[in-house]
Amino acid sequence: MTDDKPREECGVFGVWAPGEEVAKLTYFGLFALQHRGQEAAGIAVSDGRQVVVFKDLGLVSQVFDEQTLTSLRGHLAVGHTRYSTTGATTWENAQPTFRTTATGSGLALGHNGNLVNTAELHDEVRELTARHNGTGFTATTDSDLITELLAATSADIGLEEAATRLLPRVRGAFSLTFCDEQTLYAARDPHGVRPLVLGRLERGWVVASETAALDIVGASFVREVEPGELLAIDENGLRSSRFAAPEPKGCIFEYVYLARPDTHIAGRSVHATRVAIGRQLAEEFPVEADLVIPVPESGTPAAIGFAQGSGIPYGQGLVKNAYVGRTFIQPSQTIRQLGIRLKLNPLRDVIRGKRLVVVDDSIVRGNTQRALVRMLREAGALEVHVRIGSPPVRWPCFYGIDFASRAELVAGDLDMDGVRRSIGADSLGYVSLDGLVQASEQPASRLCAACFDGNYPIPLPDDAQLGKHLLEEIIANDGKLTAGYGAAGALNQP
Ligand code: SF4
Repeated sequence: MTDDKPREECGVFGVWAPGEEVAKLTYFGLFALQHRGQEAAGIAVSDGRQVVVFKDLGLVSQVFDEQTLTSLRGHLAVGHTRYSTTGATTWENAQPTFRTTATGSGLALGHNGNLVNTAELHDEVRELTARHNGTGFTATTDSDLITELLAATSADIGLEEAATRLLPRVRGAFSLTFCDEQTLYAARDPHGVRPLVLGRLERGWVVASETAALDIVGASFVREVEPGELLAIDENGLRSSRFAAPEPKGCIFEYVYLARPDTHIAGRSVHATRVAIGRQLAEEFPVEADLVIPVPESGTPAAIGFAQGSGIPYGQGLVKNAYVGRTFIQPSQTIRQLGIRLKLNPLRDVIRGKRLVVVDDSIVRGNTQRALVRMLREAGALEVHVRIGSPPVRWPCFYGIDFASRAELVAGDLDMDGVRRSIGADSLGYVSLDGLVQASEQPASRLCAACFDGNYPIPLPDDAQLGKHLLEEIIANDGKLTAGYGAAGALNQP
């Protein structure tokens, strides 16, 4: 089934709470973060003597059952849901990643984001393993490189110090939760590209990708983990240190689509932001119409805002087959041809004879909107006006979001009228970047908007060193990058 939406890389969760069922808390935390990754899930638990990891491919509910969770006993845990932007979908690449240090201590790590100096870090790992007569390097994710480097250096100096020394050399987007037998750690890259928050339980602490994951386990929000901050939580309490000066560049796409609407980012409600985007759209692209309908669920708040801003009634015109995107059963060719009908079904009585405004969060390849416009016309719509809660996506993301390749992005080389004709709408309007930034209530200088404007806030290495399957490529070529690998158009392919 083709999915025409950008895909978030991962969700991370960590808990330190002696006396609580930490594996179950993590399980529910991961449930709340399932939208951030649906290919694999894992939980690492420590009881103070050893770190045990359980992970597998599949949804959180498919990977864990009562028996497994009950067997994972301890006072701290780290959890992860994965969608791969680096490395293939294999069991080995599921997280938390795990290593044993030279002193026999365990280390488990979960990572959300994507690094941009993977090749450099890989060289470092090769040198280290050669020096220590290591058995060789098998990881094919940037996350596993971090784990390997931390494990290799922490035997002598301890994990906290190893992280303080390593993290300034790690470039790109990373929100990390990791642990050894005693201590839970959390760290966020100096740009704070991906979210990471700290919460308080009555008898412990929680760190999570989104505030919605704090809510589900009954933790109260304390604050965001600061860009460039390392947190350590153990029986001595919570310690905070800086490994780099903060230069905030939070991902603006979290507000558009990636984060849950009930999450808060930088103090701003994601839902309220999306409603404000809709109001802004109504101002920037007014239209005469009878009904505003959302593309559920992600277009709903912006459609509400558009209706508020325009005075046009809001209604439900499409019903979502909520669980179809979560199936692991591959559809046959005949079923695949149903395309959008697998996901959305029109309410014909509502739509017939109406001039519609259809509000969606973003356009990536344009396939969904093209099929949608056709479906609404077949259901009797007189006019279909499409309004989009983000500017045209024109550039790939190197910081943890898997869009289509640049060649596949419908706005890659078409102007707005070209996209309108391509999707067959009567009119089309994208919210302006200024309008989007205004809705987020963050200063533009603290946001990344590179997929819209091409200004990448974290410098990128040569094209040849970026790509989803970079590490597999390096290993297959005995440590050397092949010439010409990863032309821009081939980056970030699922
Ligand atoms: S390029 Fe786009 S999706 Fe990627 S971090 Fe920046 S704003 Fe977010």
